[in-house]
Amino acid sequence: MILFKNADTLRNYLEEQAKNGKKAGFVPTMGALHKGHLLLAETCKKENDISIVSIFVNPTQFNDPGDFKNYPVTLEKDIMAIEQAGCEVLFLPSVEEIYPNGMEQKKIYPLGYLEEILEGKFRPGHFQGVCMVVDRLLEIVGPDRLYLGQKDYQQCMVIKKLIELLGKRNEVHAVICPTLREPDGLAMSSRNLRLNPTERKIAPAIYNALQYIRSNIPVEKPAALKTAMTESLIKKGFRVDYVEIADAATLEPVNEWDGKQQLVTLAAAFLNEVRLIDNLVLNI
Ligand code: AMP
Repeated sequence: MILFKNADTLRNYLEEQAKNGKKAGFVPTMGALHKGHLLLAETCKKENDISIVSIFVNPTQFNDPGDFKNYPVTLEKDIMAIEQAGCEVLFLPSVEEIYPNGMEQKKIYPLGYLEEILEGKFRPGHFQGVCMVVDRLLEIVGPDRLYLGQKDYQQCMVIKKLIELLGKRNEVHAVICPTLREPDGLAMSSRNLRLNPTERKIAPAIYNALQYIRSNIPVEKPAALKTAMTESLIKKGFRVDYVEIADAATLEPVNEWDGKQQLVTLAAAFLNEVRLIDNLVLNI
């Protein structure tokens, strides 16, 4: 595995590889890697000639400075895990490499409705920050395939839209990998490292609520299910941002279901300081 810290050096290296006909797959991460990240890295390794993983905790996507400050860092362990996954390249840039002209936003990404709802509504500016970093990373890495986790359902939609906005639809293909879970159902997440033992025991309730929705959507109205699951999470000690049932393709909220429309249920809730998100596709 080759470790790059400099953007230009990496770009030159990857341009050489592309000239030799090598297909490149790319997995952007913020580190504190778990098996969900490694699934992306291993899939990327299998499907491409060169697999590149980046670790960069992107300051511009944190709307909450406390969340940024407390974001877990496990760099040595991460480097070993990526090497073990067989990836050829690790990109470990500094803030200056990613934002050579400063972190102030110079370009607005017109995401429209997608950033007014759910994560966009509760984390103002978050998706603009995601677009800033992914735009820059795509410019540096120029991958053929980009590996993303369904765990961040709305983020996958935002990044697909970004690829379109950048006119790169024929250059970069987004590959969405399934959400990996702990044995009790909790979606793997770097932020789980911040849960204390009591919070960790309560945390799978989010997945249970989503599963309840999946089981009961044929017999109960979406609006009633959302209210019931929000209340059940509040009772267990969560501060709920949302429990939503939405169109799987547009994320428009659904209150009445015709039994045919493809749906996704999504939730975001805090356990004390730690914010957790999860989703399930309800393809019945
Ligand atoms: P992050 O480091 O949180 O920015 O995540 C990097 C990538 O890993 C994103 O595409 C995430 O959606 C994906 N990811 C995070 N958690 C999981 C998981 N539990 N299963 C699969 N992919 C995940």
